[in-house]
Formats: sequence, structure tokens, C-alpha cells
Amino acid sequence: RTVYVNGDYLPEDEAKVSIFDRAFLMGDGVYEVTSVLGGKLIDFDGHRARLERSLDELDMPHPSVMDDLLDIHRELVRANEITDGLVYLQITRGAPGDRDFAFPDRDTPPTVVLFTQNKPGLADSPAAKQGLKIVSIEDLRWGRRDIKTTQLLYPSMGKMMAKKAGCDDAWMVQDGHVTEGTSNNAYIVKGNKIITRALSNDILHGITRAAVLRFAKEAQMQVEERNFTIDEAKEADEAFVTSASAFVMPVVEIDGASIGTGSPGALVPRLREIYLEESLKVAI
Ligand code: PMP
Repeated sequence: RTVYVNGDYLPEDEAKVSIFDRAFLMGDGVYEVTSVLGGKLIDFDGHRARLERSLDELDMPHPSVMDDLLDIHRELVRANEITDGLVYLQITRGAPGDRDFAFPDRDTPPTVVLFTQNKPGLADSPAAKQGLKIVSIEDLRWGRRDIKTTQLLYPSMGKMMAKKAGCDDAWMVQDGHVTEGTSNNAYIVKGNKIITRALSNDILHGITRAAVLRFAKEAQMQVEERNFTIDEAKEADEAFVTSASAFVMPVVEIDGASIGTGSPGALVPRLREIYLEESLKVAI
């Protein structure tokens, strides 16, 4: 694989970053994942805008490479012959040459890394037909989940808790209400109405979430942004998650209780189709 590190395109085993890198020592980095379908980037502008916001919220300088990100994404997709897959991007506060809690000088060069993941058939994964089984866990993350940082230990633990419970993923619960999945936004459906938690510091402002809610409204589905509980989810007609890598993915079981018939219903598969079709139209 050809990867990008601080201005260079290199074979992955030649790419190096410092042991003093702030993301390695402190989790002091932000990231984005953009999907590629048919060789084109889905929602690139949304991911770029959120990346800028993440940098601003953490008072990280914008690296000069910000203007070249689209070119770098495209070059990696080309060099690695990606038809369907993902582009991972990470920017850290750099490597000041020693370990210190205080942020380094603003002129410390950031570390910028991008790599691709090849995922043939990303849009027609069997999980989309089967649906996901979810286990609920307490949300023990920090209070700024709206910033897309590389501090992913608790979501990783959540994924392991899900595996241990024989499930595909976990939904996190805070004060009795679902926040989001380990790496996706969470939704329930009642009749023609889609219910999902409102945006705040408690959840990541999903790029897929924004697009899906827009397409849902255009398709005359109702959208209600409010808190919901696991008990309410168990009684829902349908449920689903969204993310850049999973698109719209049905949920068919929560804490052992079947949602609806226990198979993907009517609305969620339709929303998935709409999302893929509309996103591909404007992919770049
Ligand atoms: N919430 C969390 C915690 C996530 O990690 C992700 C995926 N990065 C999402 C939601 C979905 O965001 P997006 O649609 O932008 O991929």
C-alpha cells in the first residue's frame, strides 16, 4: 500500500512517525474516514469541514496541507487502485521532541497521515441484509464527543463487550438515554418517523447523519431529534445506525429483544438505497 506521511507518498513499511508524537503519547489527534464507492469520494466536503471544526475546537493550527487534502485523497485512491474502500486521515499536534502535558509551540509541525483501506463490495455487505445485533453499555467517554479525536479506547472496549455478548456492536447509554454506537449514530423508527438524539457535545455530528436526515425529509419521512431509551428502542418498528463506512445499516436486535419482526423492515432498507443513490450522484 502507498500511504501519505507529512508530504511524502511512501510504501507503508517505510512510513514513520516519532515516538514523541502527541497522538501516540496523549491521544492528541483528530481524524476522518471518508468512503470511496466506484472510485469516488462520498461526502468529502462534509468530512473536510468537520475536520476543520475538530482542529478549531482543540486549538490546533490548520496545517498548510489542508488545501491539498482532496488531491491527496484522490492520489491515494488512484495509487492503491481503490474502487470501493475507505480513506483514513489523521492530523496530530505533532512531535515536540519530549513528553509534556502542555501543548507545544504553535509552530510545531503537525503530523499528517493518510492511508486507504480496500473494501471491495463495501456498499453490498451481507450485514445490510441481515441487520445488526446490538448490546447496550454505559457511555463512559469524555464530554467532548463532538470532536473527532483519536481517543478511541472506550469505543474499542465497547466493540469487545459487544463481541463477548455475541453482538455486532454496542449502543452507549448516558442518564438512561442512548447517545450513539461505538462508531456510528443511532436511530429508531416508529411508523413513518425517524427518531435520533439531537446534536450536542454528547455525540459526534455524523456526516452521514446529516445527509440521511436531509434525504429522509425529502422523501416525506418524518424526523424527530430527541432522546430515546433502550426500552423505547426495543418497542420500535425498526432501528438503524449510520456512518461513513456502514452508510445506513439496519439493527434487528437490542439486548436480546427483536426489533419489529427481527429482520430489516421496509423504511430502513429504502433509506439505505436513497442514501447510496443520492450520495453517489454528488460523489467527487
Ligand atoms: N459516532 C461516532 C462515535 C463515530 O465514531 C462515527 C464514525 N466516525 C459516527 C458517529 C458516524 O459519523 P460519520 O457518519 O461522519 O462517519
